[in-house]
Amino acid sequence: VSAEPETPWALLKRLRAEGHPHDVVVSRLKALGLDDEDVKVLMLETPPAASGMEMPDAVKVAAVLAGGPVLGGLLIASMQDATLPREPPPPQVELADADPSPRCAQHVKLASVGTCPRCGGFVCRDCAGESLSAGCKKCQASPALRDQKVKAAARAVGIAGLAVAGLIALLALIGSTHVSLSLALGTVLLVAPPAIFSTVQLAVRSPWPGIVSLVCMAGEVVLFSVAGGGPAGGCGWILGIAVQSVLLSRLLKVRKAA
Ligand SMILES: [Zn+2]
Ligand SMILES: [Zn+2]
Repeated sequence: VSAEPETPWALLKRLRAEGHPHDVVVSRLKALGLDDEDVKVLMLETPPAASGMEMPDAVKVAAVLAGGPVLGGLLIASMQDATLPREPPPPQVELADADPSPRCAQHVKLASVGTCPRCGGFVCRDCAGESLSAGCKKCQASPALRDQKVKAAARAVGIAGLAVAGLIALLALIGSTHVSLSLALGTVLLVAPPAIFSTVQLAVRSPWPGIVSLVCMAGEVVLFSVAGGGPAGGCGWILGIAVQSVLLSRLLKVRKAA
């Protein structure tokens, strides 16, 4: 224990990190000698931004695809600078027996930081997990919810694939003064792989139809650039691939967690 008195801001940060409820934090700040106005202003200060965001590999691939190796590398470096890992929060502190604050249903000595919207239970900071709005850790771990998440992630990949197929068809047809047979055939050939595999993806929870669709599209981009397609079409294509890569990496992550 250091002899140095804690600043009000440091105390606020520590109490928030320890998961104390709002009224407990307010009373502790007032005990430091702060008046009501000062406490109000201090509590309004937003806590330091959460920067523990991890960058999925697909985003790196998309950055290199969009910017080339040099520009993409710089893009990745700049994004990683902004997402340095957060230091772990201090351990939660047990409430005094006389403290009337709401308590975690699992850990009766720890303060509740909120109510789980799924099971309705009071949860402490640890039980709340990273996103309480989607359910506490216990609910997140239930097989039904995990299956639901995999299904939703797979559906997102399928819908994105169909949207990209539509976009490619639109880009191929825009700018042509009349639709010739070869243009129509070419468009069907370009759109068929993502359309077919994305339709399959809508019914399948495994990521493979999305991956095959993505590989086909990447091949088409190469063919397209060799054949001399317009830059606007190429950009739309790469954007579609980037979106699908991100969604696929999310699907893989959700499946791994399930
Ligand atoms: Zn719950
Ligand atoms: Zn708990």
